[in-house]
Amino acid sequence: MDKFRVEVLSAMAKPQQVIWAAMHQDYSEGFVADDRDHFPDERKAGELILKHLLRGNRGHFGPLEHPQIVFNVGYFPHSTMQQLRTHRVGVSFDVQSMRYSGMRVVEVAEGKRSVEDVFYLRPVGEYWDRKGKQYAYSEAQRQEDLEWCLLACKRYGDRINDGLSEEHARGLIPFDFRQHFVLSCNARSLMHLLDLRAKADAQLEIQKLCELLMEHFRAWMPEIATWYEE
Ligand SMILES: Cc1cc2nc3c(=O)[nH]c(=O)nc-3n(C[C@H](O)[C@H](O)[C@H](O)COP(=O)(O)OP(=O)(O)OC[C@H]3O[C@@H](n4cnc5c(N)ncnc54)[C@H](O)[C@@H]3O)c2cc1C
Repeated sequence: MDKFRVEVLSAMAKPQQVIWAAMHQDYSEGFVADDRDHFPDERKAGELILKHLLRGNRGHFGPLEHPQIVFNVGYFPHSTMQQLRTHRVGVSFDVQSMRYSGMRVVEVAEGKRSVEDVFYLRPVGEYWDRKGKQYAYSEAQRQEDLEWCLLACKRYGDRINDGLSEEHARGLIPFDFRQHFVLSCNARSLMHLLDLRAKADAQLEIQKLCELLMEHFRAWMPEIATWYEE
């Protein structure tokens, strides 16, 4: 899967138990924290959430908004970050801005890094878009586009040497440079994001990102993630 990476920086412990406790508080007479020693374990909590909250599809999703997870997303093209950043509710971002960094672009110009380490180009293959445009992207075209990226890196390096700031010179590089960012969300906003961006007509790269997010979701909340996928 290209060089794309998603790592978990932090994830709330016992997330299904937290959701269960929130749901349980809704209909409990007492203060649920006082019963902490008798909470169901993670697996059982997950099953109870499915039974009482999700399977009935009653739209009572508030309890899912408590557990938080923080991802470090790496090596995705700038356009993927842009698509993702349109989601605002329950989601937060910190994105490498290229205002304070850009050495890796200069290193491409100097031959110390490969072009593909810093820029993303789609693989050779057959493509179609949502408007019905169908075409083949050939090896020869891709090679030419790699050369175009290299030329842009050289211009970037020249302008940095001329004394331009990174925030000024970044306007010279091709759009889909690889960009790292931190994304945090709650379990509900994660599922909303997957609803919109894992679909077959979503853009290829964001679908890949969703596959990687889904792997972490499965490890973090096995019962809920399995229900979600089904
Ligand atoms: C296939 C696709 C193509 C797109 N193309 C473009 C594009 O070309 N250009 C572009 O700019 N954007 C584009 N978007 C982004 C889109 O317009 C939304 O900004 C994005 O999907 C976030 O919406 P959301 O429902 O995930 O909102 P979130 O911010 O995740 O919010 C979740 C939910 O909260 C509610 N909500 C959030 N904010 C408001 C609000 N201000 N008012 C009322 N209710 C709100 C809505 O019910 C929303 O569904 C595209 C999205 C998709 C999925």
